[in-house]
Amino acid sequence: MARHCIGIDLGGTAIKFGLLGEDRRFGEIIQRPTPTDRGADGVVEQMIAGGQKLANQAAEEGDEIVGVGIGAPGPLRISEGVIVGMPNIPGMENAPLRDRVGEGLGLPAVLENDANAAALGEFLCGAGKAARNMVLLTLGTGLGSGIIVEGEILHGAHEMGAEIGHMVVQPEGEECGCGQRGCLERYCSAKFLARRAARRIKAEGVTGPLDETLEDKGEINSLDIERAREAGDAFAAEVWDEAAYYLALGCVNICRIFDPDEIVLGGGLAGAGEALTGPLMGHFERLHWSMAPVVTKIAIARLGNDAGVVGAAGVAWRACGE
Ligand SMILES: [Zn+2]
Repeated sequence: MARHCIGIDLGGTAIKFGLLGEDRRFGEIIQRPTPTDRGADGVVEQMIAGGQKLANQAAEEGDEIVGVGIGAPGPLRISEGVIVGMPNIPGMENAPLRDRVGEGLGLPAVLENDANAAALGEFLCGAGKAARNMVLLTLGTGLGSGIIVEGEILHGAHEMGAEIGHMVVQPEGEECGCGQRGCLERYCSAKFLARRAARRIKAEGVTGPLDETLEDKGEINSLDIERAREAGDAFAAEVWDEAAYYLALGCVNICRIFDPDEIVLGGGLAGAGEALTGPLMGHFERLHWSMAPVVTKIAIARLGNDAGVVGAAGVAWRACGE
C-alpha cells in the first residue's frame, strides 16, 4: 500500500490537484476552473470535489491518503489556515480554507503561501533536489519568492518573510505598489521589465523593432524584448542587460544573507534560459564579493507551473506524514 498526500494549488483562473507519494513521485495533475462568482463556498466545493476525485482513485488502488496541502495566493494567515482575500474572487475575505477543505475531505489539512509551496516543490522534486538551502525566484507578473533554509520553508516572525521581490535594490527608485521605492520586482519581473522599456521608448524617442511593436500592439512584453535582443537590437540588449544586472544584485544579497546551495529561477522570464542566465552570471560574478569564490549555483526551475501543486502536497507531507 502506497501513501500519498494531496496537493491543491488555488489560482485566479484554475485550481490544480495532484498526488505526491512518499517516494517523491508525482501523479497526473488535474485542473478545474476556479469558480470566481460564488465566493468562498464555490471555491471550497470545487477544492473538495477535485480532492475527492484523487482520494477515490487512490482508494481504488488500495493506497492511503495521509493529508492535504493547499497553496493559495497571499495575503494569508498561515497558522490559522485563513485566506485574507483574493482581489479577483469576491467573497473570499477571511475564508477558513484549511479547515473547511480538511473537514470536507476528512483529512488533516495545511495552508501555505503559493510562492513558498512552489519553492518547496522545486526543492523536493525539481531543480533544488540536491540542495539543503534553496531560494526560488519566480519572474512573472511580479517577482514571487520562497526560501528553503535547512530543508524548511522560511516564514518569518509575522509570516511575511521571503518577499525578495520587495527587497530594495535602488534607493529612491521606481515606486512600487507595496509602498516602498526601488523594489527588485520593478526592475526584473517579466511585466515590469517590459513596462520600463516601453516608458523609455516613449520618453527617449527610441526607434527600432520594439518601437514598432509598441506602435502596432500598444504594448510590448518581455518576449518581444528577448526576440529583439536576439535579432541584434541595441536598445533591447541594453534593457535586457539592465534587468540581468538588478537580478544579479538581488542574487548577491540573497547569498550574503542565506548562502544557499542554489538560486532557482522560474516564471515567464526564466523561459529565456541561457539568454537570461548568461548575462546574469556575468553580473553575479562581478558583483559578488571576492573573499571567497562563487559557489552558489543559479539554475532554471524544472517543474514550471506545476511547482505550486507539487509543493502544496509536499507541505502536507511535512505537516502530516513525516
Ligand atoms: Zn515593493
